[in-house]
Amino acid sequence: MMQTARTVIFEQVGGPDVLEIQERPVGEPGPGEVRIAHRACGLNFIDVYQRSGLYPMDLPHALGMEAAGVIEAVGDGVTHLREGDRAVYAATPPGAYCDMRVMPAAQVCPLPDDISFEEGAAMMLQGMTVEYLFHRTTPLQPGDSVLFHAAAGGVGLIACQWARSEGITLIGTAGTDEKCALAVKNGATHCVNYRTEDWPKRVREVTQGRGVDVVMDSVGKDTFDGSLASLKPLGMMISFGNASGPVPPFNLGVLGQMGSLKLTRPSLFTHIADHETCQSMARHLFDKVQAKDVEIHIGQRFALEHVVEAHRALEARETTGSTILTI
Ligand code: NDP
Repeated sequence: MMQTARTVIFEQVGGPDVLEIQERPVGEPGPGEVRIAHRACGLNFIDVYQRSGLYPMDLPHALGMEAAGVIEAVGDGVTHLREGDRAVYAATPPGAYCDMRVMPAAQVCPLPDDISFEEGAAMMLQGMTVEYLFHRTTPLQPGDSVLFHAAAGGVGLIACQWARSEGITLIGTAGTDEKCALAVKNGATHCVNYRTEDWPKRVREVTQGRGVDVVMDSVGKDTFDGSLASLKPLGMMISFGNASGPVPPFNLGVLGQMGSLKLTRPSLFTHIADHETCQSMARHLFDKVQAKDVEIHIGQRFALEHVVEAHRALEARETTGSTILTI
């Protein structure tokens, strides 16, 4: 008899309430696929963009890009995973908010025994993002300075710790004084409350007027101009998200006027498209966690059936660190 799994589906785009749990059939894995029984799923801001329609998808669609669990069955041609293995992934297509699924195996990674399912589900998408931001987009050296927005969030708290372990000066921003204190506790050298302070001015003060080498900006519309203004000449603007809304079109000539600035807009999914690269990024992340350079902060846990509440909290800026759905 065909198995079924609780799966979070949205039939139309909109607020958190469009998410519903449906019982969906789960078959056998085909070539290059695995069937994985989830123990925990990760929540990420990209899930909000997809649910709200900012990143359009065919509807109805399942949601969620990340989970950890146990491999139940392996399709032909899959050599890096076996039945019974603990495993974890950040991967497309969306559909990770579920008890169990069949999916392509290329981005599924063996999960080391000393990393829990919950930590695994909380860290893959956010942690591999930090990996490429620090080592691939523009490789950073000890002593470099970075301005990192939303420093107390999921990606943010990993970035603070990663920077500390690499000798990089990370100036964070966050929306409350409590969040700023958390970012500093996790390795940010400074953190500015960008809801109450003139943060581009503070960044200039902290850098003795020079500006930072790199800005990592996932807030988008509300911070883009101030981020450019915080860079030193020849500095690099990495725009990698739009939590406050997408950055409006702008005149490229501004980059020249502001000091030959560089600008890029990367995505994790380009970086992990290649199987070997994905596995090596995951190993780098596991190494950081196993060495205790990076601790995964699970700030919120919601049962899968409370997914609507989980989305509401993430979007309302009520969360810190990573958020997971428990099975
Ligand atoms: P977070 O846990 O960081 O949550 C988002 C945070 O953004 C909020 O907590 C809030 O922190 C801040 N924020 C600022 N303005 C707003 C706003 N108007 N509405 C809501 N939140 C706002 O999420 P994630 O760790 O999952 O992701 C962080 C960012 O990184 C997202 O923008 C995401 O899309 C991006 N990302 C991009 C990737 C890529 O490869 N391009 C991959 C992974 C993530 P505060 O209250 O402190 O302002």
